[in-house]
Amino acid sequence: MSQKSHQDWQDLAETLPIPHYAFIDGQQANADSGATFTSINPATGKALADVASCDADDVNRAAAAARTAFGDRRWAGQPLAARKRIMQNIAEGLRKNAAELALLDSLDMGKRVVDAYELDVPFSASLFDFYGESLDKLNGEAVTMDDGVHATITKEPLGVVGAVVPWNYPVDMAAWKLAPAIAAGNSVVLKPAEHSPLSAIRLAEIFAEAGLPDGVVNVVPGFGETAGQAIGRHMDIDTLVFTGSTGVGKMFQRYAGESNMKQVWLECGGKSANLIFADVEDLQKAAESAAFDVFFNQGEVCSSHSRVLVQRDVHQEFVAHLRAIAERYQPGDPLDPASGMGAMVTAEHTDMVEGFISRARQEADVVAGGRRVTLGGSDCYLEPTVVDNVHPESELGQNEVFGPVLAVIPFDTEEEAIRMANSTQFGLAASLWTSNISRAHRVARQLVAGTVSINTTDAFGAQTPFGGFKSSGYGRDLSLHALDKYQGLKTTWLAYQ
Ligand code: NAD
Repeated sequence: MSQKSHQDWQDLAETLPIPHYAFIDGQQANADSGATFTSINPATGKALADVASCDADDVNRAAAAARTAFGDRRWAGQPLAARKRIMQNIAEGLRKNAAELALLDSLDMGKRVVDAYELDVPFSASLFDFYGESLDKLNGEAVTMDDGVHATITKEPLGVVGAVVPWNYPVDMAAWKLAPAIAAGNSVVLKPAEHSPLSAIRLAEIFAEAGLPDGVVNVVPGFGETAGQAIGRHMDIDTLVFTGSTGVGKMFQRYAGESNMKQVWLECGGKSANLIFADVEDLQKAAESAAFDVFFNQGEVCSSHSRVLVQRDVHQEFVAHLRAIAERYQPGDPLDPASGMGAMVTAEHTDMVEGFISRARQEADVVAGGRRVTLGGSDCYLEPTVVDNVHPESELGQNEVFGPVLAVIPFDTEEEAIRMANSTQFGLAASLWTSNISRAHRVARQLVAGTVSINTTDAFGAQTPFGGFKSSGYGRDLSLHALDKYQGLKTTWLAYQ
């Protein structure tokens, strides 16, 4: 992978075509109403494009195209080898267009372009390989029966999938849904977040170039209350996969109950805990990992371990490490590989995160960062912030901030740490650091979280499920388990003489 400089990325950005249409039935499309919304680059405050603003009529068009594509089996009915090849073509298409996709995400929502280029897009591409490779290995069951009957259980695509995704990892969140959905043979109507619609539109074009038939993946940019709600309430969408906030996740449950009772799979927010025991083998390494986990992507990460619970014996030393390490994550131009963090997604979101910091000042100690920064004409930047001696029941100890703010909470005993770790409404992920193998197993077993990482923070991969417990939702992305969201079990009986 070539190392692009700040100047290289700036030059590329100058000439980058900005996609701004919806993509329905294999074609670029305007919203029927002609409405658009302006996509703003948070790093500069400048407009990038006026993007088609889809509403219920456009969702109807997209869902109809998806239904037709599913009904005539133009995709699910193709030979498995052909479908696998198209999935591989998609993966290759993402890799070929990695710089463009990375740049679109960076310009659209402020992340460091180098992270999108080196991590997000390659990971997304790998998912089309992973699920493409899986599609001829998803066997059903032949059931043991009495003489005279034969029964099989097969896994069938559900039909039309509605996918509504957030802005923090635009390419990845789309790929996490699309790759298993189409590998299982479904058609999709995807709504990217209004703050980051661009790369999803480009993805749809790449899919078409890769040979995916028209109508299998449709993209409807627009707002949550209009396009998102229309998908949630659609009578001809069979299943809804959502990644986003817990509050909006609950709305999708309601939409389903008030419409066609579609399946609803939710991957929502978190307040993950990182437990540092005094017997940790390498405290500096644990601090590096804790800092990376909360400052990467400006802290706009669902599984960000934004609470560090530190055993009192090593508390002071750990916080000293954190303060030194935080210096390396100072924000800067997202196109500059030397920047520690990029821009926050919007001014409103920056205000929200800043509000958490200023309220926390009343009752805890801001020991690093804490200030808003203006760069290049935009004030959507925040310093990497460490708040020490946070009360576990306080606002900062309980609520998702979705920004570069690390709450440090000292503890004395293992029991206390486990109780505090499990004390929020969330259960997405948890990590723990210890050199005691018994403690590692004992504590991991008691943590209520979809993923527990031991002596590393927030581990994940294509092969393992990602998702949560409690108000973090219950859907699982990644791994072969994700396919359960996109397939239904069908039993077929055959009587014979
Ligand atoms: P959000 O819930 O505001 O929006 C997510 C999506 O829902 C967007 O496409 C939005 O347009 C749509 N939406 C908003 N209001 C809607 C409504 N009334 N009806 C229908 N759709 C609506 O979330 P966000 O701000 O985009 O993303 C941040 C949240 O996402 C955080 O809570 C974060 O933890 C969560 N997240 C979770 C995961 C995970 O895998 N668990 C991954 C990434 C982000």
